[in-house]
Amino acid sequence: MTDILVAGGGPAGLTAALYAARAGKSVVVLEGNAPGGQINFSPLVENYPGLPSIPGSQFSEDLLHQAEELGVELEYESVTGFRTHGNGFQVTTDCALRECRALVLATGVQHRTLGLPGEEELVGQGVSYCAVCDGPFYAGKATAVVGGGDTALQDALFLSGICSQVTLIHRREEFRGTRRLVEQALARDNIVCEMDSTVEELLTREGGLSGVTVRNRITGQAKQLEVEGLFIAVGQQPQNGPFSALIAVDEDGYLLAGEDCKTSLPGVFAAGDCRSKGVRQLTTAVGDGAVAGLAACRWVDEHPN
Ligand code: NAP
Repeated sequence: MTDILVAGGGPAGLTAALYAARAGKSVVVLEGNAPGGQINFSPLVENYPGLPSIPGSQFSEDLLHQAEELGVELEYESVTGFRTHGNGFQVTTDCALRECRALVLATGVQHRTLGLPGEEELVGQGVSYCAVCDGPFYAGKATAVVGGGDTALQDALFLSGICSQVTLIHRREEFRGTRRLVEQALARDNIVCEMDSTVEELLTREGGLSGVTVRNRITGQAKQLEVEGLFIAVGQQPQNGPFSALIAVDEDGYLLAGEDCKTSLPGVFAAGDCRSKGVRQLTTAVGDGAVAGLAACRWVDEHPN
């Protein structure tokens, strides 16, 4: 029986674990993929107070190290379900059955797709959801990025340092992302913007992406862009499937929990991007982590076996 199980090893989950371990609780973090979550794919974090500029992967490596030094255990397991059990919870993962007294859900989000024919098949053959991971494969080539948020802007900036040209395709006339990133992107000679436009078709040659058809939704005109890489950065969706039967979620599937991170099920806390909230940032994720970690400790203390 572990005091606190944390589902998800991103910034929110690791922070919750760190706080709980520091408070003397036994804590296991369950993470099916590489720890660190989405921030691993952020080339440079420039808005974390006190750290003027740090690569996202470095941030998560440091956070993991810090948590482990404080006694947090990390297990590479994906949570597939859970149920209440006595005074606590029984959690099933892809390879184990675990028991805990309190549960922190910090499962984050996963990328949204465009839902275009061939999109799934072309992943790794020209379509990517991670510029930091796959950008170097397109060195010297023409690429495009879809989206108008911070991720798309950061991706375009990152790719512009590697690729011959980057076309930023956004469905509206204004970017959603922060002004600083917009200004940086607009100042790059090899970033071209296609505003008010959507990708309508993925074009292929010899099994790989060769271009895209883009339609301007104002003029109605379509044109083909020759690109070998298409980076899709159109936001995210929560990964709360295993929990939504027992815990209330909003219409988009985010776990309903307020600033206190308490879910509808006592003893279960939600932290980070998987929680319904207005601002999803690294800072708000670690803020949730601290709140959820301490709330879980309190729950364990107030509900002894
Ligand atoms: P986001 O802010 O939700 O932006 C998604 C973008 O994709 C929007 O511009 C949206 O267009 C567009 N989009 C959505 N569905 C689309 C579709 N089907 N077809 C075409 N375009 C579509 O997502 P994000 O950029 O991944 O950012 C997520 C959160 O992480 C944000 O809070 C962001 O600030 C944060 N973030 C922060 C940093 C940083 O701090 N450095 C870096 C990356 C992300 P509309 O604008 O028209 O809705």
